[in-house]
Amino acid sequence: MSWRPITLAAALCAALFFPGVAVAEDPPPEVENRAGTRAPAEVRGLSEPAQAGDPVAAARAHLADPRYHLDPAELTPLRTVVDGRDETVRFAQRHRGLPVFGAHYLVHFRTDGGQREVVGAGGRFLTELSVDPTPSVTADTAARIARGLMSRSHGATQSPGQGHTQGRAQGPAQGPAQGPAQDVTARTGELVVVPRGAGVLAWHVVLSGRAAGRPLLLDAYVDARSGRPLFTVDRLRYEGPVQGSGQTAHGRTVTLNAYQRADGAYELRDRGRAMWNGTTGEILTYDARGGDVFDYLGSGIPPGTELARSATPAFGPEHTDSGAVDAHWGAGQVYEFYRGLGRDGLDGQGGTMHSVVNVTIDGEPFANAFWDGTKMIYGGGGPDYHSFAASLDVVGHEMTHGVIQHSANLVYLGQSGAINEGLADYFGNAVQVDTLGIPMSDPNASLLGEDLCKTLPPTECAGRDLGDGRVAGEDYLGVTITFDNGGVHLNSTIFSGVLWDVRERLGGRKADKLAYKALTEYMTPLDDFTDGRRAVESAARALGWSARDRLTVALAFERHGIRPGWERTIRTDSRVLIDNITDFNAIPDVAGDRYVISNSSPDGAAPPWILTGRLRGGKPVTLSEGDRWNYYPATDGRQAVWASYDTAQTSFQIHARPLDASTPPRLVYQAPDLVTELDVAGDVIAWQIFEQASGETEIWIKRGDAAPVKVTAAAGVSGYQPSLNGGRLAYVRVWEEDGALHSTPAIYDVAAGTEVVVPEVPGTGGLPSDSAMPIMLSRYVAWAVDTDADGRYGIMRAAADGTGTTAVVPDGPAAPQPIWFHANDTRVAIGAWPEGDTLENATLPKIYQAPLTGGPLQRYSCNRGLQDYFSAGEGGTIAWLDGTAGDTDLVTRDRAAVRC
Ligand SMILES: [Zn+2]
Repeated sequence: MSWRPITLAAALCAALFFPGVAVAEDPPPEVENRAGTRAPAEVRGLSEPAQAGDPVAAARAHLADPRYHLDPAELTPLRTVVDGRDETVRFAQRHRGLPVFGAHYLVHFRTDGGQREVVGAGGRFLTELSVDPTPSVTADTAARIARGLMSRSHGATQSPGQGHTQGRAQGPAQGPAQGPAQDVTARTGELVVVPRGAGVLAWHVVLSGRAAGRPLLLDAYVDARSGRPLFTVDRLRYEGPVQGSGQTAHGRTVTLNAYQRADGAYELRDRGRAMWNGTTGEILTYDARGGDVFDYLGSGIPPGTELARSATPAFGPEHTDSGAVDAHWGAGQVYEFYRGLGRDGLDGQGGTMHSVVNVTIDGEPFANAFWDGTKMIYGGGGPDYHSFAASLDVVGHEMTHGVIQHSANLVYLGQSGAINEGLADYFGNAVQVDTLGIPMSDPNASLLGEDLCKTLPPTECAGRDLGDGRVAGEDYLGVTITFDNGGVHLNSTIFSGVLWDVRERLGGRKADKLAYKALTEYMTPLDDFTDGRRAVESAARALGWSARDRLTVALAFERHGIRPGWERTIRTDSRVLIDNITDFNAIPDVAGDRYVISNSSPDGAAPPWILTGRLRGGKPVTLSEGDRWNYYPATDGRQAVWASYDTAQTSFQIHARPLDASTPPRLVYQAPDLVTELDVAGDVIAWQIFEQASGETEIWIKRGDAAPVKVTAAAGVSGYQPSLNGGRLAYVRVWEEDGALHSTPAIYDVAAGTEVVVPEVPGTGGLPSDSAMPIMLSRYVAWAVDTDADGRYGIMRAAADGTGTTAVVPDGPAAPQPIWFHANDTRVAIGAWPEGDTLENATLPKIYQAPLTGGPLQRYSCNRGLQDYFSAGEGGTIAWLDGTAGDTDLVTRDRAAVRC
């Protein structure tokens, strides 16, 4: 039997032009292919007899058919979902015994009595993998690299790696007193295969701790052949931009299923649900009693944390304030909601469900909530907010993350992450409106978290609105993956809005069933919006929906602009130098009319190489040689330097090469520790290293053939962000004094070996100022400074001899909130958050430029999306990474747009 290829567009046209006819019956069978693999993304309309008995064996036997091009031996069964007569087996792919990141494949049966028939199959299975399972990088080195990169930057610049995941919602960036990611530990787990190209063998490293004053729990993936960091996924499912409030927190009297202990006290332990089997299947609500959220990041419940407890069965007001009443009652409601959809608990197997309420952060109210992979955690509220358990939609949202983890496990990154967040919002709101009897027509029905605020009205309090009507092509936030995990919160309503529209038109019972079936029986971890659409439409077909109802679904997707190729419709005012930057660590550097940058292959499979090109355009030239991790290139306009990791030598190396590639790369230096910044000027090269043994970040310099010198050799002195020009090196000198971290630029004269320290800019409020990102110019050093610890930075310059400190752009309440800074001899440029309280393209970081002599900052490019790392060339020229057009591009223009 052969398959008839189809496209989504063809199916849609049929639906639009011949409603009620073309979509009524699908002539079987049909297949949709997926780029980069021979295993189909979806096969549907099958009607083939299958083995009786074990569904997993039957599914394997079916997939052995050569039409699938896959090896059933690589499939590990995850779970089988039964929904009436539908039976779906979900597999995960393992390649040479190693799990393949995000690769799930599903087989759909229809059963009738003892008979079983295959009706479809699909998902993501990588047929072209060829991975040697032997690592060249040790687990220990992988941990060092992942940990070391957390220490790359300082002050204003520590944000691009991780701080921005929460964006402005979490308030201003933290000053130096927080320290650059000091309390982070790295633990290497198993080897996995990352599905890029022929597959990339990678170590899974878990980073946990505290950075920039926030709890941090990241899954980092490090290439086990080259040592390059591939990407990180934020494990904390924060409910980011919720701004606003919650008896219950709202005075509602609810029944709590509690438990009386031998000592007579009552605790919030619910054994009254269908999943309770005499030993397990409880709903447990713990009161952290103001414990620090940092202590709850590990798996399980830390010893000493007790269930919320009361001397009488009436749980008093303290349990309202702590959030325990809302969390416990809400968890029961969410359990019953999912039971109505045929699911027993978050894991689908009646496993105990845990909530922790009343956590704080640094002694302050923790105005947030998250799912950490094993439990729900709710902040304890404060003067402005109730407990984050006080809004039933938030409880439903957190618990849905648990359901997703145990079903399609949508990766919390980019579009799949936005679908993950969107489904959590959809089901959270569905539980709330059904339980509280709110009509779908109520204008507040579509709001998420609207009951959290003590004073703000619902519309201002809500974090998101599923009825915001956003359209993918017009409203997609052009973020890069360093922000909000690539827009998991910021872009979620584009997808959840489709499902909410369907719920408004077809009712909760139908729509919930549809969304749930799509999630559990059709979606796979790396689905993008278009894949998500296919999953929902397939679920509607499997549910036997009428042509009319299926058209309602198709039109809802069309209204929200989710159709193949939607990313290609967005306008820009810059020229593209390199399309599709796929290296997570790419940062451009420019000198004269030349740029350097690192990049990987379009699928991100190759270890990054170093590219150079001209700002006026043309094809870039590759400078690096060999198959290894090359990163952080810098140029002085004639030559490039960059770092690499040599697995054969297990060392980090610094290379230099002329931009015309007239001579081969020259090895400048071999270091045992991770090189995290570089610069070059003539025969002088400077670099920054995170020294594992001391835990300090140091600046080194090397001139010609002379031995390298550690510039920050003095005990207790660290250095960041070396910048060379002529015979001078500028860097941020950081030291501890009277219990506080101090920072200011230092200028080192390379020939003389002497140094001047620019006088610290005075801080206010008893705190030292935070200096960051010095750029050495011909006659000046320019840098960013925060004098009042508000996350806003002014721009300063001082003469090259360290005297005459002058404000180019003064710090203060109107100063920019920066993400990046650069300068040349005539202009300064800062990448900063525009003013505004909403999160939209207009308020994503943009580049602004001002004369070095002082003057107003002017908007540089009118591109609507995120303008990320950049470098200033001559005159008004800047080259930057831009997220506007649906991916990350290196782009340029030669003067400020001024007005947009
Ligand atoms: Zn979430």
